[in-house]
Amino acid sequence: MFNIIWFRNDLRLKYNKTIFEANKHYDNLIPIFILDNKLLNVKYSCKKRNNFLFESLIDMQNQLRTLGSDLIVIDYDPIEFFKIFKDYVNSVHISRDYSPYSKKRDHKTNDLLGNKLKIHCSNVIFDQNTEKIETKDNQTIKVFTRYKIEWLNSLSHNLSILNLDYIPNFCNPTKIKEFIDVLNKLGIPIINNLSKLIDVNEKSNIFTGGETQAQTIWNEFLKNKIYEYKSKRDFLSVDGTSRLSAHLKFGCISPHQIAYECIKILGHEFYNFRKFQNTNLAGIEHYLSEIIWREFYKYILDTHPYVTQKSFQQKYDNIEWENNIEKFEAWCNGKTGYPIVDACMRQLNEEGWMHNRGRMIVASFLCKDLHIDWRWGEKYFRKKLIDYDLSSNNGGWQWTAGVGTDAAPYFRIYNPTEQSKKFDAECKFIKKYVKELAHLPPETIHNLPEMNENERKILKLDYPNPIVDHKKARERALKLYQNI
Ligand SMILES: Cc1cc2nc3c(=O)[nH]c(=O)nc-3n(C[C@H](O)[C@H](O)[C@H](O)COP(=O)(O)OP(=O)(O)OC[C@H]3O[C@@H](n4cnc5c(N)ncnc54)[C@H](O)[C@@H]3O)c2cc1C
Repeated sequence: MFNIIWFRNDLRLKYNKTIFEANKHYDNLIPIFILDNKLLNVKYSCKKRNNFLFESLIDMQNQLRTLGSDLIVIDYDPIEFFKIFKDYVNSVHISRDYSPYSKKRDHKTNDLLGNKLKIHCSNVIFDQNTEKIETKDNQTIKVFTRYKIEWLNSLSHNLSILNLDYIPNFCNPTKIKEFIDVLNKLGIPIINNLSKLIDVNEKSNIFTGGETQAQTIWNEFLKNKIYEYKSKRDFLSVDGTSRLSAHLKFGCISPHQIAYECIKILGHEFYNFRKFQNTNLAGIEHYLSEIIWREFYKYILDTHPYVTQKSFQQKYDNIEWENNIEKFEAWCNGKTGYPIVDACMRQLNEEGWMHNRGRMIVASFLCKDLHIDWRWGEKYFRKKLIDYDLSSNNGGWQWTAGVGTDAAPYFRIYNPTEQSKKFDAECKFIKKYVKELAHLPPETIHNLPEMNENERKILKLDYPNPIVDHKKARERALKLYQNI
């Protein structure tokens, strides 16, 4: 009989609540990962994202081998695997996941394994099944600021939740061999050479998956950049954010560790977030706040699963989107004639990542200038983002479209030219991605969409004319939202 840790979106050995809890009661734990082809080869899969996953698995396997154990990667449908293997199982430990697909899968696994399946909470610090976040009258929360207050309050009363000190106790090679022998006997395939999975033509130049890399990035960020996070995080050409999103998505780093180390610096009054405004700790407080945003969107997905299909504020599903395919393609390809929008979309297409400010600009442009359903943009991001995360992506799109929680009132519409002047004043970012404009002075680039036909002709540019007039598009968007 085997005690198994089934890793999914928690690909790390440090600060892993699943390992922590499993270690308390079981030893000789067998670490496994099940390569679920349903998730890898779907319509919206992304090769760069898959590579990141494989790199993370390789890193974990290397770490486990150094500890004298191993990571067994099983190439099978998870439910079919447990159907065949359940009689060999003493316990299976997993971390809770919040997407409808994962919930269904875990539900079926639970039907097969009963109380042998032990579910822990390592993806987030608080979830609805362990430490509930809710208002005093037990209502679910619908706005971020309220959630943040309750989250900080809960943590201040339960700081020990971050204390995940343990020496991982994984099985030795003899037990691994015993496990593999059973898999062989049952005809369950395993993957022996993980590096073969990597598609070298789709390797990201910027991101490498794995806990080792995540720890290096985090330690560097915590030493310096985090102090300037608040003042620099919005500027597109500045490397002012942590770029840990894909690591957080795959669980190569834990929110527990991030919160623990931020709070160590903020001190025991960390929950009093207003205290840090205008101090040198404002960056750390702000960073922690972003980690709470991440948890908030998981909470919304968990408590309001309909958001994967519908607007959080369902009345907005009556908007009559225009959904023009040519305009959508121009947006996808970074050819809208709005330099800031095009630079952001080209960054996404080339690197599999986009700056948060960029995500807000292009999302607003798609919905409010092109009048295209936010779900089209959400799906495109899903195909392209290495850090694609159902809850954060869905939350970000709904927020920007003004149909979600904390909706920016729909009449607040980003003006791409103003965004460009404010967050990329010298056009360093635009020039990096829209090379055909690199020779122009910043004022010309910012004002391109507002120039008339003749002014543009004189410039002899190999760059598209704007596909919409922002002022007119803005008026039209207001009507679309008001007409629901
Ligand atoms: C339309 C849209 C789509 C988005 N899609 C995703 C997505 O698929 N996956 C994803 O991880 N984030 C998404 N975000 C949130 C945010 O843009 C990214 O998390 C961030 O840009 C990642 O870069 P970073 O790690 O340098 O972030 P940092 O600024 O360093 O933030 C640290 C971490 O906090 C979390 N975080 C930061 N901002 C947000 C936010 N607004 N919502 C939720 N979590 C946040 C992320 O885990 C991030 O890694 C989206 C935002 C928008 C507006």
